[in-house]
Amino acid sequence: MAIAAQERAPQKTRKRGVRRIDQVREIFRDYMRSNQLRQTPERFAVLEEVYTSEDHFDADELYMRLKVKGVQVSRATVYNTLDLLQSSSLVKRHQFGQNQSKYEAAWSFRQHDHLICTDCDEVFEFCDPRIQGIQEMVEEIFKFKIESHSLHMYGSCRREDCENK
Ligand SMILES: [Zn+2]
Ligand SMILES: [Zn+2]
Repeated sequence: MAIAAQERAPQKTRKRGVRRIDQVREIFRDYMRSNQLRQTPERFAVLEEVYTSEDHFDADELYMRLKVKGVQVSRATVYNTLDLLQSSSLVKRHQFGQNQSKYEAAWSFRQHDHLICTDCDEVFEFCDPRIQGIQEMVEEIFKFKIESHSLHMYGSCRREDCENK
């Protein structure tokens, strides 16, 4: 009995094991509350779709996915919500090449960098701890505090079904 009570008591302990989607929903709720924004079901639907898809997407793709699922949401709401999610650091926006801007879920995802195929526009992720090492070295040399970095590598993928190869 005592153990069960202890497990439930402190906020920190309670949060462990909570699903990521619940955590991001809470962050988004707090953000909207403190910015006096309306907490609409449409905005939460956009957030949910972002966190169920584990890839890089543009605003129109996201809008289409929601539409296919029968979620009643306007294109304007999708764009507007993506801006809010970006401001609350729940979504990251990448500029891949000149005309390709893509988003991805950002909360509690491991640090990674991108390979972009210029034939089929597919985005691949890679993670190499040595990049962290370079960052630390550069910080030391330049006496500079790095907040973030973006590393995009462009080229051709070798997939069989790569378009425009
Ligand atoms: Zn390709
Ligand atoms: Zn990514």
